[in-house]
Amino acid sequence: TTTTVAFIGLGHMGGPMAANLVKAGHRVLGHDLVKTSLAAAVASGVERAKSAADAAAVADVVITMLPAGRHVLSLYGQEGLLEAARPGTLFVDCSTIDVADSRTAHAAAAAAGHRSLDAPVSGGVVGAEAGTLTFMAGGEEAAFGEAEPLLAVMGKKAVHCGGAGAGQAAKICNNMILGVSMIAVSEAFVLAESLGLSDQALYDVASAASGQCWALTVNCPVPGPVPTSPANRDYRPGFAAPLMAKDLGLAANALRAGGIDAELGLRAAELYARFAEGDGAEQDFSGIVRAIRAASTA
Ligand code: NAD
Repeated sequence: TTTTVAFIGLGHMGGPMAANLVKAGHRVLGHDLVKTSLAAAVASGVERAKSAADAAAVADVVITMLPAGRHVLSLYGQEGLLEAARPGTLFVDCSTIDVADSRTAHAAAAAAGHRSLDAPVSGGVVGAEAGTLTFMAGGEEAAFGEAEPLLAVMGKKAVHCGGAGAGQAAKICNNMILGVSMIAVSEAFVLAESLGLSDQALYDVASAASGQCWALTVNCPVPGPVPTSPANRDYRPGFAAPLMAKDLGLAANALRAGGIDAELGLRAAELYARFAEGDGAEQDFSGIVRAIRAASTA
């Protein structure tokens, strides 16, 4: 069946996601503040809406793919999305945002008589283009069930993680594991180098021992052992360091709000923030190994 979708935020991720919905036969009304992004979406078959609220007014499902929580809350509120939509419209926010903001957005949608899901993604621009994203969703089971056919067009896997905000929680917890483990793997390679142990030898041992993890065996931060890792192409992303810094910043907010004693998570957020603002601005997040090496005295 054809669903009428309002798609707000047609940037790096939203543009190709909306294009895949069009390809699958859905009617997609799009809006973005950036003219070139909107024009690219229109070229892929998205209908130009005069405003985000105009799109929401006729939609069965409103999908947002925006930079941060404040954009989502402003669209839902001041920019009139919740007010313009027909009662019972399903709001699916695919942006990666603060868990607290996500819960506020859910409550606002419910208060306006709508249903809602948070459904952040992993898989990056490549996954958005190929329709192979992974969605982690929070909200009511029925809302998830209704969104599933659309999520299946844009992605290869959708996991219902729990109630409001659970998708955002899953995303930041996973990426906190990833950020901390990438730093740990990188520090170990720099230590190994200073001890005269080759990268390959450390890899051969750790990948078959208890140091084994994704940061080592898939996204290995040194060139050589895993030929497909970004380190072999001068750390071209991949998963860009500023996006890791953003996600760890969201994790740090939640850690502080929850009073969690997570020294490594907070420290990883600091290290990635510094790396992303400096040399890492355009690098894969595994490039942090170079910052660690550069800061070492040996
Ligand atoms: P982007 O900046 O390319 O796109 C966001 C778009 O939202 C922009 O085009 C912007 O103009 C638009 N926008 C902002 N406010 C708006 C408003 N009020 N009305 C209409 N449009 C508005 O960002 P992106 O890379 O597409 O990422 C989107 C979200 O997905 C972010 O939350 C990001 O953290 C998350 N994410 C990104 C990646 C990635 O690899 N890029 C991967 C996973 C998750």
